[in-house]
Amino acid sequence: MIAPQARLENVTTRLREQGHRLTPQRMAVLKVLIGNKEHLSAEQIYERVRVDFPMTSLATIYKTVAVLKEMGEVLELGFSDDSNRYDGSSHPHPHLICVKCKKIADVDTADLSQLPEEIAQKTGYQIVSHRFDFFGVCPQCQENEPFEGGGVAPTR
Ligand SMILES: [Zn+2]
Ligand SMILES: [Zn+2]
Repeated sequence: MIAPQARLENVTTRLREQGHRLTPQRMAVLKVLIGNKEHLSAEQIYERVRVDFPMTSLATIYKTVAVLKEMGEVLELGFSDDSNRYDGSSHPHPHLICVKCKKIADVDTADLSQLPEEIAQKTGYQIVSHRFDFFGVCPQCQENEPFEGGGVAPTR
């Protein structure tokens, strides 16, 4: 994995090469997103960028994110009943989604990394992307209020 600073430079160079103007607001969006592991929504990115650039519009955030998405520099995690969330990583990876607080965490496991290749082999599909979502209740939310819905609980 490339260090966030190096990736940031990489992305800004690519943006310039493609003729995109790099306004301070756009740079701020990049800085919030690249290497960020929090999986923010456009609104959350907006709130952070506005701290330094109060004149920024939500449209600027959407436009910048759309450009980055098209370049394959961020992943969009779409949800039907909630805002899309953005991941500053450029490689698809499994996610854990808390059904209570909507927090999204990365799953760091090697067990799934071979799966796209295996599926490609079995089906003849050329896999271009993938999405693994695990839904659950995060440890903090479990502490606040034990979940009674069944499911797979961690053994302690
Ligand atoms: Zn939670
Ligand atoms: Zn992620």
